[in-house]
Amino acid sequence: MSRSEARRAQDRLRRDRLRNNGSAEPYTREEIGERDGWICGLCQDPVDRAYAHPDPRAPSLDHVRAVASGGADTPGNMRLTHWGCNHERNSDTPLTTVEEARARVELLRRTPGLRDYADSLTPEDMVRGSLARHTPERYRARLARRVERYTREAR
Ligand SMILES: [Zn+2]
Repeated sequence: MSRSEARRAQDRLRRDRLRNNGSAEPYTREEIGERDGWICGLCQDPVDRAYAHPDPRAPSLDHVRAVASGGADTPGNMRLTHWGCNHERNSDTPLTTVEEARARVELLRRTPGLRDYADSLTPEDMVRGSLARHTPERYRARLARRVERYTREAR
């Protein structure tokens, strides 16, 4: 499968999931941005509409509960974020409950070669570790590094 085919397949899967997670309600980035006061829901710094993708400071919409975990495509499940913060969160989906951590462990146990690793994990520790990684301070620091890299490469 080529890279673009894989991407299309992934998009299709995401659309199917969105359809199955409940009715989609229309919303715009402007509406969510106004509602959230143009403050990033992850790092809690202001979001400036003057920036555009792929600048990490660009405004972006994030599903509070991930689509993959059954989150709906409705305004109530959306928040405004910096594009870079959103990307950061997607690369390490936060675990907020022990049930979520248990589900993650089960998934790992079924993955070839990861059974021993999965058995060494404690759901309580996983939640603690995840909460410690997903603080506004950490998002702010990561975004600053992304912006630095982006502006250096854009020159
Ligand atoms: Zn942010």
